[in-house]
Amino acid sequence: VYFIDQKDQIKFFNQNMKGELVSKFDLESKLRQALAKDEFELYYQPQLKSENNQVIGVEALIRWYHPEEGMISPGKFIPQAEENGMILKLGDWVLKEAISQLKNWQDKGYNNLIMAVNIAPQQFMQGDFVKKIKKLLFEYQIEAQSLELEITERTVIKDIEYTIEVLNDLQKLGVQISIDDFGTGYSSLEYLNRFALNKLKIDKSFVHQSSNLNIVKTIIMMGNNLNLNVVAEGVETKAELDFLIQNKCHYYQGYYFAKPQNAIDVEKYFRKI
Ligand code: C2E
Ligand code: MG
Ligand code: MG
Ligand code: MG
Repeated sequence: VYFIDQKDQIKFFNQNMKGELVSKFDLESKLRQALAKDEFELYYQPQLKSENNQVIGVEALIRWYHPEEGMISPGKFIPQAEENGMILKLGDWVLKEAISQLKNWQDKGYNNLIMAVNIAPQQFMQGDFVKKIKKLLFEYQIEAQSLELEITERTVIKDIEYTIEVLNDLQKLGVQISIDDFGTGYSSLEYLNRFALNKLKIDKSFVHQSSNLNIVKTIIMMGNNLNLNVVAEGVETKAELDFLIQNKCHYYQGYYFAKPQNAIDVEKYFRKI
């Protein structure tokens, strides 16, 4: 038996591959069931102003509590959900859950929070993506400025002209856009200027003191020059934070202040304004 793989190469089917296919199918159906049984939960990690540790918002991060296997981290199932297409259904769930949680917080008087949501490439490429966002904002009566979408360089390089169009539409709507894991992908500097962006998130691999700190300095400087807010992710120590402040990185996120946690636990970091 042979099949044609994604690179259009003909490969012969062997037992190993059979295992792979079965487990992929298995995961797809498990994800489907998990959605139906409400096994997903969003955790939230605060984003802060570096200078005064004032919380400006949170990033929503999905978690999966599997009844037998326990907690499965998104690093494990998001890439597979992207491969088998389930990411569209998962992504819809995440957007709705995050926006409804934001509404809930606003109703409690936490009014100035920004909700940042990770968006996979396939979600962004959906023809009705902007319409979907608009509809959700209307449904929950949330101002577009309170929603931030995190996309990666992987997304934007798929189709530059289309990306420019969608980002312009999102900007018109008022939604904020950040580039996540910045520095790990392949976006060219020229594109950065053509995209309607608000933020760069420096990937955590660059932020740690063991890495080449000139890269962090360069990204911060570039972001500031392009009038983008720069957020450092994965800040774990005071030394890392001090370095960022010295180099004019105005926002950060990381275990140093708080780990991602559930909606109830994260509230203790918020202040009513
Ligand atoms: P990301 O969007 O870059 O999220 C940041 C990751 O860094 C999170 O991992 C967070 O828990 C972790 N992190 C935060 N602060 C620190 C720190 O100080 N030190 C260290 N070592 N790590 C820190 P998490 O929650 O496991 O998520 C992993 C990735 O999975 C995310 O990376 C994102 O790409 C993806 N993901 C998570 N939730 C969603 C979602 O709802 N939709 C989509 N499409 N992707 C998601
Ligand atoms: Mg729930
Ligand atoms: Mg993110
Ligand atoms: Mg990231």
